Amino acid sequence: MKEFELISFIRRKFKGQSKNKSLYLPIGDDCSIIKPPKGKLQVTTADSLVDGNHFSSKYFTPREIGQKVIKVNISDIASMGADGPYYAWLTFALPKKIKAPLIKGVIGGIMAACAKYGVTLAGGNITSAKEFSIHLTLTGWVKKGEAMLRGGAKQGDSIFVTGTVGASTSAYRQFKAGKKPEPFLLKRWANPNPKPEVGIYLAKNRIASSCIDISDGIFQDLKHLVKESKAGAVLEWEKIPIEPELKKRNPTPNMIGYGEDYELLFTVPQKEIEKLKRFQRQISEIGKIVKSGFKVVDKNGREVDVGRTGYSHLA
Ligand code: ADP
Ligand code: MG
Repeated sequence: MKEFELISFIRRKFKGQSKNKSLYLPIGDDCSIIKPPKGKLQVTTADSLVDGNHFSSKYFTPREIGQKVIKVNISDIASMGADGPYYAWLTFALPKKIKAPLIKGVIGGIMAACAKYGVTLAGGNITSAKEFSIHLTLTGWVKKGEAMLRGGAKQGDSIFVTGTVGASTSAYRQFKAGKKPEPFLLKRWANPNPKPEVGIYLAKNRIASSCIDISDGIFQDLKHLVKESKAGAVLEWEKIPIEPELKKRNPTPNMIGYGEDYELLFTVPQKEIEKLKRFQRQISEIGKIVKSGFKVVDKNGREVDVGRTGYSHLA
């Protein structure tokens, strides 16, 4: 498929997408033009997926690949508490030998995820490259004073996490060891489940003092949060919501803390916890913000060694 054929294919496919008044100039010109909603601040993120690292074109369906590029960006936007209308700019880096059904399937997945999360595709770019990769920029909106940052956690706040962690990481580790990931793990790696409704609820009701999305492992991302907050954290190992099937294997911290969970980790001052409890979602309390330091303890209060866990792109 040639570059211009592919662009017209994308334009055709996305013609029917929801029309937002704020999209002043859609796909088709050198740039798109967006009219910001009144009284809102723009929240912007960018994330890339590279074949053989963030996904595997061998084990993911094309649709899963496409959905994932939207979902990982939605996860970032969710961590700030940003609401829609969301706009996306999509860049494909394609090897010359890439097959049309793969790329069309990926676009099908992107369309499905855009419909699910209320994302409007506003533009993009296509380039050729040795490796297949997909890059997305996503924007959302937040009211001044409602954005959730990493730096707001205070001593005494409780630490919460959405959903379950560990399965995605385990699939990735099996893949990197040269194996086909086990199906129940692969399913999680290929199908992140970001939580924009949680992020928006926390932000609008001013419940969380800080928030981060877990993309590089629960321990590492919590360390990022406490560093920005100039505080520390104590986590309770038994309270970490490890994916139930995986938990049966008694995984070590190192096995669950590597990345790709795309859950939200946030802190809540004690006086806001009642408000959080009214929100019926799978959310687990896993520890407390303390003055300084970082440790994980077992139910007897003994320290659990988490070593150097977490994903580093350039290590
Ligand atoms: P230019 O050469 O001026 O950068 P292009 O010919 O690359 O423009 O793109 C033409 C139009 O198609 C632009 O509006 C651009 O945003 C859009 N476009 C190109 N690639 C993509 C893509 N992968 N997804 C969505 N829109 C795209
Ligand atoms: Mg141009």
